[in-house]
Amino acid sequence: MKVYGIIGWPVAHSLSPAMHNAAFRALGIKAVYGLMPVRPEALPEAIGGLRALNIGGVSVTIPHKEAVLSLLDEVDETARRIGAVNTILNQEGSLLGFNTDWLGARRALEEKIALSGRRAVVVGAGGSARAVVYALKEAGAQVVIYNRTFSRAEALAEAFGAEAFPLEALPEAEGDILVQTTSVGLKEDRSPVPKEILSRFEVVMDLVYQPLETRLLREAKKAGCEVVDGLSMLVYQGVEQFRIWTGESPPASLMRQAAEKELKGEN
Ligand code: NAP
Repeated sequence: MKVYGIIGWPVAHSLSPAMHNAAFRALGIKAVYGLMPVRPEALPEAIGGLRALNIGGVSVTIPHKEAVLSLLDEVDETARRIGAVNTILNQEGSLLGFNTDWLGARRALEEKIALSGRRAVVVGAGGSARAVVYALKEAGAQVVIYNRTFSRAEALAEAFGAEAFPLEALPEAEGDILVQTTSVGLKEDRSPVPKEILSRFEVVMDLVYQPLETRLLREAKKAGCEVVDGLSMLVYQGVEQFRIWTGESPPASLMRQAAEKELKGEN
């Protein structure tokens, strides 16, 4: 029996155990995935523990995605460029770091629109925005970043060849795609995007998935946009993690069903 899990602080509400355990069951893989709450100060010890306990691999979430880089034996080039690891594979005692968030974001968007040559507006400049901006640039999109703290937008734009604006300029934003990466709307009925601008975009994606239909997505639907919810990116980044750990492709639709049930408290 292989053991996998998620390290973060807090992790109690993670949807990842439901998603990965459903996929293990479906594929008949003898493995279990659990919650591994790790306080920031305990991260080095916890990483050592992965080797000692022969844990097969872990997902890494807030607040450890950046700090974990220096504790691993090898970090994949893409994760290094993004500056964050969300997946660790334990390969016979060697800990290898990857980033699958950008692949999740790309696949979720590409279900609705081809990205090459499109103009994408990214709202926010935190950790998740880095993965989204990387994904969009890799796919050949032109990227414009709007953030409350302008200096963070500037730094992110500089790192990946994008343009930066303060959040106050958002009413003038236009493009084909809008991706909302701030925590605004999480467990609250608020949107950081003025609804008047939404009809300028073909596709609107929100990274927030609690609630599944955020105010932004509700308003975007009304404005006639195609919408992508945050669960889509979460599931697809999980699909890529599962591939890294097991070498097998899990059923994405089943993982989504399990995550939705967990969100509704039905598991
Ligand atoms: P983070 O690194 O802490 O960044 C937070 C971002 O939100 C920053 O740009 C911050 O702006 C902005 N922000 C926070 N409060 C704001 C407010 N009141 N008004 C305007 N902007 C505000 O967080 P993160 O890791 O990027 O995560 C952001 C959200 O994405 C979370 O809700 C998280 O759950 C979600 N997420 C979803 C997925 C998925 O797979 N769907 C993956 C990762 C994250 P400043 O720079 O000005 O502080």
